[in-house]
Amino acid sequence: MKICLGIESTAHTLGIGVINSEGKILKQVQKTFIPEIGGGIHPRKAAEHHFKYARELIKEVKNSNNFNLKDINYVAFSQGPGLGVCLRVGAVIARTLHQTLNIPLIGVNHCLAHLEIGKLFCDAKDPICVYTSGGNTQIIGFDGGRYRVFGETLDIPIGNMLDVFSREAHLQHPGGPKVEKLAKLSNKFVELPYTVKGMDFSFSGLLTAAINKLEAGEKLEDMCFSIQEVSFGMLVEVTERALAHTEKNEVLLTGGVAANLRLQEMLKIMAEEHGATFYVVPKQVAGDNGAMIAWTGLLQANYRQFLKIDESNVLPKWRIDEIEIPWIN
Ligand code: AMP
Ligand code: MG
Repeated sequence: MKICLGIESTAHTLGIGVINSEGKILKQVQKTFIPEIGGGIHPRKAAEHHFKYARELIKEVKNSNNFNLKDINYVAFSQGPGLGVCLRVGAVIARTLHQTLNIPLIGVNHCLAHLEIGKLFCDAKDPICVYTSGGNTQIIGFDGGRYRVFGETLDIPIGNMLDVFSREAHLQHPGGPKVEKLAKLSNKFVELPYTVKGMDFSFSGLLTAAINKLEAGEKLEDMCFSIQEVSFGMLVEVTERALAHTEKNEVLLTGGVAANLRLQEMLKIMAEEHGATFYVVPKQVAGDNGAMIAWTGLLQANYRQFLKIDESNVLPKWRIDEIEIPWIN
């Protein structure tokens, strides 16, 4: 049995998770940076937040009754993609543990970790993944040794779109849950741009139009309802085509926006029409967390994908489709 400690710090959350090779989470702690009202995530302020809480979180992990620090076999960290200054905080903590505990260091791709933890907890084998979060929106599936991105946003991620709209509407961050709640109060559809280009999609035109219509006097709940119907519809269309093309029989929804019940419902209906099983990642590991980094670290450790310190620089633009995946065949 091996144990890995994983560190997540790509954006708003500093998380540390410890997991064993049976997939049991031994510890999961995190602190999330909340932007000031009316603002977005300021990278430097988020990084300062992570530095501020790093010692406290490490201490909590150290004091766990489930294991000893000396039982940990590997240390993994989110190497990218993400905000450079935030990624560097996680990298510094990981390098320090690597040297003080004298254990191998593993660099994990954050998007890959969202997928692998979803597969673990849902027991999905080879899904089309709908990865929807504050910082990413991609439709991904495994093919020929790698995860391929079948479709993705051409501009802003869907979670970011919901957050910016909410900010303009004077709702508190994070916006996604507020939009979902208000959308339930309406069934009046207000037309908004639906932008799917090939297999990619775009949310910025939709965002601008929604803000303009709100300012022109449309009701907030009607706009929330319509934003969800249009943006989720775009995701479902591209996922459906990826599913039909690959003939896979599973759909896995992951990332922070996966909490949205309307998105879950729409994807489930589509998946079942294709005879596919729909899975959604459990809430505990849906948002950014250290356990997903630790789990992916263990998968990589089986193939001795270890880093030397001078190879451990952060990769803010690292794409999932650049990585060879030896553990799936
Ligand atoms: P992540 O980046 O994966 O941590 O996810 C954070 C994003 O998920 C933010 O943009 C939130 O607004 C969004 N989010 C969280 N809960 C919901 C929800 N119920 N509906 C839509 N978006 C949500
Ligand atoms: Mg994420």
